[in-house]
Amino acid sequence: MLDHTPLPLAERSALTINPAKTCQPIGAMYAALGIHRCLPYSHGSQGCCSYHRSHLSRHFKEPVMAATSSFTEGSSVFGGQPNLLEGLNTVFTVYKPDVVAVHTTCLSETIGDDIPQIVGEARRQSIIPEGKYVIHANTPSYVGSHVVGFSNMCTSMASYFAERIETKPRSTDRRQVNIVPGFVDPSDMREVRRLTEATGLAVTMFPDTAGVLDTPQTGHHVFYPEGGVTVEELKNLGRGVATLALGYWASRDAAVEVENRADVPREILDLPIGIGGTDRFLKTLAFRGGQIPKALEYERGQLVDLMVDTQQHFYGKKVAIFGDPDHILALTEFCHDLGMVPVHLLTGTPGKRFAKEATRILGPKAAGANIQAKGDLFLLHQWIKNEPVDLLLGNTYGKHIARAEDIPFVRVGWPILDRAGHTLLPTVGYNGAVRLLSRMLDALLDRRDRDAPEHEFELVL
Ligand code: SF4
Repeated sequence: MLDHTPLPLAERSALTINPAKTCQPIGAMYAALGIHRCLPYSHGSQGCCSYHRSHLSRHFKEPVMAATSSFTEGSSVFGGQPNLLEGLNTVFTVYKPDVVAVHTTCLSETIGDDIPQIVGEARRQSIIPEGKYVIHANTPSYVGSHVVGFSNMCTSMASYFAERIETKPRSTDRRQVNIVPGFVDPSDMREVRRLTEATGLAVTMFPDTAGVLDTPQTGHHVFYPEGGVTVEELKNLGRGVATLALGYWASRDAAVEVENRADVPREILDLPIGIGGTDRFLKTLAFRGGQIPKALEYERGQLVDLMVDTQQHFYGKKVAIFGDPDHILALTEFCHDLGMVPVHLLTGTPGKRFAKEATRILGPKAAGANIQAKGDLFLLHQWIKNEPVDLLLGNTYGKHIARAEDIPFVRVGWPILDRAGHTLLPTVGYNGAVRLLSRMLDALLDRRDRDAPEHEFELVL
């Protein structure tokens, strides 16, 4: 399929081939699903909404509910206000959500629809029932990526609900930390909560898709599953001793918004993937009043033991990593800690900070690495053709390159469309790192077994 990717790199400024990102509203839709009893609402044409829903459904293997303004030619010319008013009316009458989270699309952004004004009109016309909420995020897809859309909707949650709380907590109250978990799977959000609660802290996580997109099969369809952060919890963000943003790109702006609105200090951390990221996450919790229990020290020890036991298989192996910037940086650090050599790092999400952070993590190894934000998979393929790697880490879209170049491939990040289980098994935390390491090791050793001559085909490796 990629047989014709040429070896020589050419300067390209106006052409993207196989983008390493998708559009903003998908991220906004995913974030909105992490609010309890929230219906995401796509203000644009049906095609956008169908694409976003189906893409999320394919990754999470769960039905994803969302409403749309269903723009036609008329709305494209005269604006989408009538569609949004009618849509909100239908949604509140038929589906009875607590919150409707409106995000825009390329079309409604190009028209210039003013969502707060239209929502104000809906209130004047009593379309929004008492005690129900409509929030919104602008998500034009001709800038940014799905990560930016996720960040914008998280920020919107804070700007609509977070408020300063003056009442002092009682001495018996558990200290609360707010966590913006980043664009990660429900399994990861569940694990971040487990780690945090293990330290004795209470946690308000927003968004929280655990219990929404990883629900068990019961034989009954539940339109609004039990999970998700509640409006009550969002209104109480001001009680937090800090807001921890896990991942600069996906979570920082929301934490800043909570700080600005509710006077809760922010801490910007990396995703807790791998040993270094998880250590820093737990240290931050300890600094905010948490106690690290023996059980977590034990989990860490197990990970260290595994890293030592398998070090010879990873040392010096070249790896290419692509996907979302928060994931790539955390994975780069973990691979570096394993003794691997990350040689190609590429994200489709823009931002100068990416190269700066990747260079800092790699230290002297950065000199020989290709690092690029706003890149595409065509470029990644060319890099790999010019400097082959032993392992490729990234989302499902890497499988074409892995096949073309015959490289062991481990799926990690978003989206994963051709495998299952990732939404139930975390990548974050010490246990997540054990799982990730073992998948990477399997991929490397399966390849070694496959290629070993008869006399080197060993039973014990
Ligand atoms: S890029 Fe724009 S037009 Fe295309 S699906 Fe996304 S929001 Fe819709």
